[in-house]
Amino acid sequence: MSDNNYIVSARKYRPSTFASVVGQQSLTHTLKTAIASGRLAHAYLFCGPRGVGKTTCARIFAKTINCEHPTPDGEACNECASCQAFATQQSYNITELDAASNNSVEDIRNITDQVRIPPQGGRYRVFIIDEVHMLSNQAFNAFLKTLEEPPEYAIFILATTEKQKVIPTILSRCQIYDFARITVPDIVAQLQRIAADQGVEAAPEALNVIAQKADGAMRDALSIFDQVVASTEGHITYQNTIANLNVLDYDYYFRLVDTFVAGDVPQALLIYKEVRDKGFDSLFFINGLAAHLRNLMVSQTPATRVLLEMDEQVSARYVEQAAAVSAGFLYRAVDLCCTCDLNYREATSKQLLVELTLVKLCQILKPQEAKREATPIQPVAAAPQPTAPQPAAAQTAAAPVRQSVARTVAPQPSAAAPTPAAAPQSAAPQPRSAASRRRPVAAGQSAAGAAATQSAPAAQGDTVRREPFTDDQLAVAWQDYIKAHPSEHVIISAMQMATPVKIGDNQYSVAVANVMQQNFMNDSKHKWLSSLRDALRNDMLAIDVTVAESAPEPAILSPRELANDMAQRLPQFRALVDDFGLRLS
Ligand SMILES: [Zn+2]
Repeated sequence: MSDNNYIVSARKYRPSTFASVVGQQSLTHTLKTAIASGRLAHAYLFCGPRGVGKTTCARIFAKTINCEHPTPDGEACNECASCQAFATQQSYNITELDAASNNSVEDIRNITDQVRIPPQGGRYRVFIIDEVHMLSNQAFNAFLKTLEEPPEYAIFILATTEKQKVIPTILSRCQIYDFARITVPDIVAQLQRIAADQGVEAAPEALNVIAQKADGAMRDALSIFDQVVASTEGHITYQNTIANLNVLDYDYYFRLVDTFVAGDVPQALLIYKEVRDKGFDSLFFINGLAAHLRNLMVSQTPATRVLLEMDEQVSARYVEQAAAVSAGFLYRAVDLCCTCDLNYREATSKQLLVELTLVKLCQILKPQEAKREATPIQPVAAAPQPTAPQPAAAQTAAAPVRQSVARTVAPQPSAAAPTPAAAPQSAAPQPRSAASRRRPVAAGQSAAGAAATQSAPAAQGDTVRREPFTDDQLAVAWQDYIKAHPSEHVIISAMQMATPVKIGDNQYSVAVANVMQQNFMNDSKHKWLSSLRDALRNDMLAIDVTVAESAPEPAILSPRELANDMAQRLPQFRALVDDFGLRLS
């Protein structure tokens, strides 16, 4: 670069007084008070993340305690000979060691040798050891002796990003100061001051992006700022900043949440495609979406809005979108994103995994749609079930009529006589049950199919048995089945452990121990349920098999399971997969 006067902002705007240190007010106040009252310790430990001002504060501290005319509030005058020597880095009273690259015993000996030399034209010699946790064990031990009995004029300031790695014998000899991560508003305010000083136009929204990217480190924020200033020729806008920093525009996420609310699957998938076309990684995208949903969550309550760390304009947008969705929706949505993140590494088709997640996100507010569509399928599937006692001619003649009737009146069990059990079953949690979620999908096996096999016996003939029965009679029939079928080990052991519980008219629920038992029970339902119906002379009897609450749920679906699950539960998703020419691996 030919411009010799160019100084990077991190250096040019390095604070020279405690008051100008950004985001550490209470800490700098304490240091100033200690200096003003003359209560100085021999060793300090400055801890905190990188780029938050530890070394800067150590240098200001060294300068201030050597200042000949400190101000009444404990700042250095920046004018006396000592201050001038510090400003031009010619003071002999400050020695810095970066332990990250100089961590040997020899390096520490160099320091301890210097400790013996008294200060030149000042009162104190200050030794700053950066990244002190990097010192070797031997170096630590060599240093410990000096730290235990330092000369009056020697002050050590140790800095570290990893306090837990500093040995206790050192910790116990230091006054410890914990530096906070600098907040986004603090960084933005500082960038605004610097932009004004440099005559740079900068949109607050853009500075917000820079501050977010810096993740609490002022030094990083300033380097990023320089980079953006250089490439935008001093006109920093939100758009050129996100382009420059390869940050994904949060506008995509706002639009996506709108599609989730509207249940607009195609639009959600198209937005995801736009993001991919821009070259963004899918995992980055899904994590960004999770962060956006988290931001909406904290925007819902005024008390948690401080956690948003955004400038006012963007905050307002979050608050607005947050008001349009329920907390329940957001919890569920974040959960789906986290599941996607968990499964991402193992997924063979990462794109499909993300797309499935988006489909699920669109379905959160519209699960009833899936159920509505599933209902008419059942009678159709039930019709071909061969039933012995019925004359073949009567069945074929009746079948088409049955279908059309069932389509319109299926939800009323009493009206649609041929399929009385179908409606309660479809309204019951069948499509969302654990079985349909996790069962390995055999050909033609589906939630609707399972419901159909269950309703099959009810379609037997035109007379539907409706004899009333009591819970006790069902319990007896249940036990009778167990006794009569000793060879069906798995079913029997599941039945022995479970008791049907009444949940509605002729409707019962039975909780088994695990998904495997549930699958076996569902697969053989046609057998045991028709046996119970025969025993009770009631074809309206419906029993839903669930997994007991306490049973551990497998937390993770493999992408394949997820894909099959979606295809199984949502006919419109199946259609979508076909439309987009996707392949369920
Ligand atoms: Zn001074």
